[in-house]
Amino acid sequence: MSRLKDKVAVITGGNSGIGFGIAQEFKNEGAKGVIVGRNQETLDSAAAQLGDNFIGINADVTNVADLERVFAATAEKFGKIDVIVANAGAGTVGTVATFDEADFDKAINLNLKSVYFTVQKALPYIKEGGSIILIGSNAAHRAYANFTLYGAAKAAVIYLAKGFSSDLLDRKIRANVITPGTTDTPAFDKFVPAEQMEAVKKHFADQMPIGRIGQPSDIGKTAVFLASDDSSFLLGAELLVDGGMTYLS
Ligand code: NDP
Repeated sequence: MSRLKDKVAVITGGNSGIGFGIAQEFKNEGAKGVIVGRNQETLDSAAAQLGDNFIGINADVTNVADLERVFAATAEKFGKIDVIVANAGAGTVGTVATFDEADFDKAINLNLKSVYFTVQKALPYIKEGGSIILIGSNAAHRAYANFTLYGAAKAAVIYLAKGFSSDLLDRKIRANVITPGTTDTPAFDKFVPAEQMEAVKKHFADQMPIGRIGQPSDIGKTAVFLASDDSSFLLGAELLVDGGMTYLS
């Protein structure tokens, strides 16, 4: 299919998990563009799998100068930008009793500040009618143990989709947010010992109303909809892609 034919997309965190799933679905629909991450090995491997129409740019999304460089380089190579996916992020584990000021800044810089500046630094290049897609989390809607600041940052990201849409009305740029539930990505590796992985994933799947955890392609297909003109009437919307886990379990 070619719902994104010739559209140029920038996907932060496109070298892993959900971001790579989005990039693959975009590629399947005819898009081209840039994936952004810090790990050169996974960037090279992901870009190679995406083929000639995608390149990887090594950058830290918490560094505003890096973001300026990413969008300037994208515009220079592809001539325009149609779609931004602010996906890079990570769960940060701690409670109000344990998280100190440095932990706070780290969690908020990665999961909130980076989203704001990813969008701001894309603005000089993104075309009228462009689509901004933010990746939040269902953790914004329920208290999960130890995810207090992560959930708070992701709740703010849900607001940003509304605020950005309002700010950018004059340029007809739409911002919407996808809030995934538990999704099978390498992020699990950071929290679960390898020998327990299978049992943990089964445990999550058994608790899901739909009977399985999400796949990056579930999020990718939703992102294709938000990137395409099929969603031209959606501004500031949240699409909860969670197999029912947030409100049905
Ligand atoms: P992964 O760990 O698989 O991917 C995270 C991506 O973000 C990597 O590509 C990583 O690249 C990139 N990244 C992280 N920090 C930075 C940084 N400072 N600068 C540039 N890139 C960075 O995780 P997921 O795919 O699971 O997560 C993607 C998004 O989805 C996150 O925002 C997460 O909060 C959200 N989410 C995930 C859920 C899940 O169950 N998996 C559920 C709900 C939301 P690199 O390592 O090269 O820096």
